[in-house]
Amino acid sequence: MSRDLKDRYAPPAWAFAFHGHRCPFMPLGYRMGVMALQHLALERDLDHTLHVICELGEGHPQTCLMDGIQAATGATFGKALIEKTYWGKLAATFWYPGKTAVRYALRPSFLDAFGAQEFFAWRKRGSEPSAIPADVTDAAIAWTLAQPDDAVFAIRESPDFSYQPPKGSFQRAACSVCGEYVFERYVRIRDGKPVCIPCAEQMG
Ligand SMILES: [Zn+2]
Ligand SMILES: [Zn+2]
Repeated sequence: MSRDLKDRYAPPAWAFAFHGHRCPFMPLGYRMGVMALQHLALERDLDHTLHVICELGEGHPQTCLMDGIQAATGATFGKALIEKTYWGKLAATFWYPGKTAVRYALRPSFLDAFGAQEFFAWRKRGSEPSAIPADVTDAAIAWTLAQPDDAVFAIRESPDFSYQPPKGSFQRAACSVCGEYVFERYVRIRDGKPVCIPCAEQMG
């Protein structure tokens, strides 16, 4: 394996600890995130600026990609910097104000070759990643790290891509029905009083 690729793209141990198991897709997402930061000339996001729009969905494999993207970029679910389109595609667009957005997609030819790794035979037989022998998993991870960037990713700048971050606000109101606090943009008004969304839906 190329030392250089391995050093640049291998996720740190804490990223595996956060993810919960060793698998090849979290590292691929990590690599995608590292490459996107380099492309956009950004550091990992400490606060709330970068935004990542993932084209993945649910009920399909390989969504582990998104934990790697979060670990690499700091665009985390908790900071509301990452979202899904539910298109069921292995791609993500990275947006930063004042820069041209860039989309990374896993190439079909890469995914076909990747699918021949023994790791996937275990997955298709129903084994969860944590139950797959470490040498099988590590071989799959090492194989992905050894593939050149161009073989793994189709990269496209998206000058027309636009994203409008929601306007931030610290304002909140107590729901007049359940008494719980609701942040401003989610407050609904019923009979002239603030209510939360679940209570508004109960009122019909
Ligand atoms: Zn995983
Ligand atoms: Zn309520």
